[in-house]
Parts: sequence; structure tokens; C-alpha cells
Amino acid sequence: AIWNLGSINADMVYAVPHLPGPGETLAATELSQFLGGKGANMSVAAARAGAHVCHIGAVGADGRWAVDRLTEYGVDTRQIAEVSAPTGHAIIAVEASGENQILLFAGANHAITTDQLGQAMSQAGAGDILVLQNETNAQVEAVKMGRELGLKVCYAAAPFDADAVQAVLPYLDFLILNEVEAAQLQEATGMAPQDLPVAQVIVTFGADGARYFDTNTGENQVFPAFKVKAVDTTGAGDTFTGYVLAGMDRGLPMPQAISQAMRAAAIMVTRHGTADVIPDLKDVQDAIL
Ligand code: ADP
Repeated sequence: AIWNLGSINADMVYAVPHLPGPGETLAATELSQFLGGKGANMSVAAARAGAHVCHIGAVGADGRWAVDRLTEYGVDTRQIAEVSAPTGHAIIAVEASGENQILLFAGANHAITTDQLGQAMSQAGAGDILVLQNETNAQVEAVKMGRELGLKVCYAAAPFDADAVQAVLPYLDFLILNEVEAAQLQEATGMAPQDLPVAQVIVTFGADGARYFDTNTGENQVFPAFKVKAVDTTGAGDTFTGYVLAGMDRGLPMPQAISQAMRAAAIMVTRHGTADVIPDLKDVQDAIL
């Protein structure tokens, strides 16, 4: 099973005639609300890939719809707490050209308690996977618990913060970063991916694919991406990570898990939207790429 300490956001997308400037009051012409947050996206991706995913997180009373949506997509939501803080959200203004402006509020995503975490993790078994990203609190507590319980501890270093990733680094078995994050981590630590004290590292390069490092053997392997017509790359990285984790959880060798994740992410970039449009395993296997 996969345990995901992850964010749950309401993505509120407002169509605007132009991006607002300082002091400006602007009427939006349209509002669409979607399920978002890197954590939620990864849970949906791993569940769609066939894994049992238990999401550990928090929402406010205004976020029950998001929990229902996760349940609908096959995620185990029993460890999501309802707290007094508002649900995490992103206010996204988009002008006709596609240019956007995003305001993020972590809200309930930063209200996860150690008690909640301990209670959830007490149900995990050795060999299970724990994954987290940098959109919740309690990250260090979680990786320490994961280590103690014999879980495989995985971290997606996004949104990138050098202090946050360095705080969890000693407890990780697996680290996934995009190219920009990898450069930022190297800048902060002076260590290239293959030198990190983490057994397995993946660096993704968007349309250029990904590189997998086995830091014990020093080997690395390049995986070219599938050539597709990209229309919306949001959620590609989260889908990739969710699929890699689901593959690992199923016992697939890493190269196979990565190939499958590559297919899923390639399909994802041909679709508009995020959590709501993540392909399932059958779509991924049947797709002609
Ligand atoms: P992030 O979204 O975290 O920045 P990337 O942009 O590196 O991550 O994308 C993650 C993975 O998604 C890539 O390794 C690749 O497999 C797939 N991907 C992203 N963009 C494209 C694209 N334009 N064409 C095909 N695959 C893509």
C-alpha cells in the first residue's frame, strides 16, 4: 500500500480580461473549481494506476467535496481529517493569452497533527511506501516515523525549498525532482543527484524524459519521453510520480515502473486539466504512443 502525506487544494480558476495590477479591482468573467494540490494529484494518479493509496491530510468543512472527489477516484480517504482551518486553495487568474497569476494558501494542509500522523501510520506495514511533497507540515515527523516502521520513504521536492528537502534527506529511500529542482538542490548541497545519500533518485526533464540514478551502484539510465502534442503540462510531474510509486508498490523493476509512468505523463500533457483527467492503467496500457 501507499501512504501519502499530501496536500489537498481547491483550485479556483478565474477567467479575467487581463491580470490585475496593484490596487486594481477586477471582475472575473468565469469561475471553474477543480481538485488540486500535488498531494491529491499523486494520490489520484497512484490509485488510477491500481495501487491502494491511503491519503493522510486535512481539509476544512469547505473541502468535503474534495474528499468525496478523491473517494470517487479510488483513494482511501479515511485518514483525511476535517479541521477548523479553511481548505488549502489556489486562486488562479487566467487571461485569454493563457498567462496566469496564482495565489496559494496552505490552510488545512498545514494543520496536520503528529497524533493524526501516528494514528494513520500505525496501520502501515513494513514494505509499504510513504510519500510526501513540500505542501504539508509535519514532514520531518513523517519521514522519521516511516523509517522506524520500515516503510520505503519517498519525497517529491516540490514546490522546491532547500531547507525543507535537506531536513528530510537523511531519511529518504527515494527522491524525485525535476531538472530545475535538481539544479537548486545541487546548488544548496554541492551534491549532484548521484552523490546524494538516497538510494534511488529520479530527475525529470519534461519533454526530454527522465534519468534514473541508483546511487549505490553509481549507475544511471536515461528514459526518453514519448513524443506527443502537449496542450497542458500541469500535473504531468505528479502523474509521473504517482505512477512510478504504484509500479514500485506492485513490485515492478524500476525501469518498467518508469516506462509506464512516462506513458501516463505523456497522455496527461495531451489533456486539459489536472486530477480529473489522470488516465487509468488500462488507458495507459492501451495508448498508442
Ligand atoms: P514537472 O511537471 O514536475 O516539472 P516534468 O516537466 O519534468 O515535471 O515532467 C515529468 C514527466 O512528464 C517527464 O519526465 C515526461 O515523462 C513527462 N512529460 C512532461 N512534459 C512532456 C511532454 N511535453 N511530452 C511528453 N512527456 C512529457
